[in-house]
Amino acid sequence: MIKKLIEIVGQDNFTDQLEELVPYSYDASINVHRPDAAVWPETTDQVVSIVKFANEYKIPVIPRGAGTSLSGGVVPIKGGIIIDLSKMNKILEVSIENRYARVEAGVVCDDLNRELAKHGFIFPPDPASSSVATIGGNVATNAGGIKGAKYGTTRDYVLGLQVVLPTGKLMRTGAYTMKSVSGYDLAKLFIGAEGTLGVITEVTLKINPIPRHAMTAVATYAKLEDAGNAIFQTMTSGIIPSVMEIMDKVTIQAIKENTDIALPDAEAMILTETDGFTWPEVEAQMDVVLSVLKKNRPIEIKTAKDEKDRLNLWKARKSAYATLARVSNSFVLDDVTVPISRIPELLVGIQEISKKYNIVVATFGHAGDGNLHPQILYDEYDPDMVQRVEKVEEEIFRLAIGLNGTLSGEHGIGLSKAAYMSLEHDPVEMALMRQIKKTLDPYNIMNPGKRALDG
Ligand SMILES: Cc1cc2nc3c(=O)[nH]c(=O)nc-3n(C[C@H](O)[C@H](O)[C@H](O)COP(=O)(O)OP(=O)(O)OC[C@H]3O[C@@H](n4cnc5c(N)ncnc54)[C@H](O)[C@@H]3O)c2cc1C
Repeated sequence: MIKKLIEIVGQDNFTDQLEELVPYSYDASINVHRPDAAVWPETTDQVVSIVKFANEYKIPVIPRGAGTSLSGGVVPIKGGIIIDLSKMNKILEVSIENRYARVEAGVVCDDLNRELAKHGFIFPPDPASSSVATIGGNVATNAGGIKGAKYGTTRDYVLGLQVVLPTGKLMRTGAYTMKSVSGYDLAKLFIGAEGTLGVITEVTLKINPIPRHAMTAVATYAKLEDAGNAIFQTMTSGIIPSVMEIMDKVTIQAIKENTDIALPDAEAMILTETDGFTWPEVEAQMDVVLSVLKKNRPIEIKTAKDEKDRLNLWKARKSAYATLARVSNSFVLDDVTVPISRIPELLVGIQEISKKYNIVVATFGHAGDGNLHPQILYDEYDPDMVQRVEKVEEEIFRLAIGLNGTLSGEHGIGLSKAAYMSLEHDPVEMALMRQIKKTLDPYNIMNPGKRALDG
């Protein structure tokens, strides 16, 4: 295996050294498993040769971008070869007149947006990990972000893909046009597939002009239900804010205690933003949002007067994940998503589960598109607590699905949620997913052990 892989990618782009394989055992979840080797291909042809070889000898291959997966999606649970695409990082084409950008899969999301900004354009999905996460990873997880309620997720921007299939065949699918109904929409099959169906080597993305103005406001509430109601009433008020984020009391408290950010005592805090191409348009939208926020008994509402003020209002929300990550020695971050009108029930339900098992759960997230991030904080050296955390997680999943929601709005299933797939998907759907996997990947070499697809 070593000889063949070095022949394909060259000595400098291959490793089987322990100190280099250990970092490849991890992503941003709690899952860990070491691969047998890692390669850094520089061309699609090299990826084709690696996958053909792996298929012939039935060796697992795991496509990897920046390794920021929060679901264990990139952890090589069955060993094998990590295909790290970070050296395939060229922006191949920016076509402003045709509104698309064509990039290699290893291009970092922010690097693409820096290039597009020169032309006044943007690839709108904005995962908080965009400074390191790759476009290939964004496509493979259907990444979303803070502006998802208005601008959607990665899926809404993928026009076409180049994919190395598990047998080593190379396929181009999709189009360079804004719309196409030619053939089955195979590109969609690979979006959010978490690298289980093939290695994406090139992506063609629709791009948008950058909105020129944005206005920000923050509201705090003494009752969680009031905040939840304010959110879904805003989303049905006739306008769509570009940001509608929520943080619960546990999150607010953690930020107050662990940073120098001053926040009021509140059960919930909403951060919202409207954007557009003219000030009157942005202000008119914000007036609608503010009137809804006011109707729901806020403690206080603050609007940003200038850019400095605006960045200040963002500070607390931006620090939530990192602050909570430091509060305990371990945590699980989930991304359950429900229809927007069920947000108040989800928020209250999570708090009840937290109380029932005496486990701290801090909730924040993209409430405008129904996507919340309960961050379950615990001590990994306390076995009794670990057991209770498992129960908390399962109950949160059951709660979300009971509210017509889904296990994952943006992080994917990976290893972390594989055991819960049958809560959401009936046996017929599960069987069809496994059949698709088997048809494309007869020897199950492509990121095996994920999403309960191996059965
Ligand atoms: C601090 C932090 C904040 C985050 N914020 C967000 C957020 O706001 N929104 C959000 O959606 N996610 C978020 N995430 C999760 C993560 O960043 C996204 O899922 C991101 O899209 C993963 O990109 P990556 O390049 O790191 O992929 P990786 O983690 O390397 O891989 C993720 C999955 O995609 C597959 N994959 C990667 N590249 C390819 C490829 N070229 N072809 C086929 N499969 C591939 C892998 O096998 C794996 O299953 C966050 C993570 C962290 C750590």
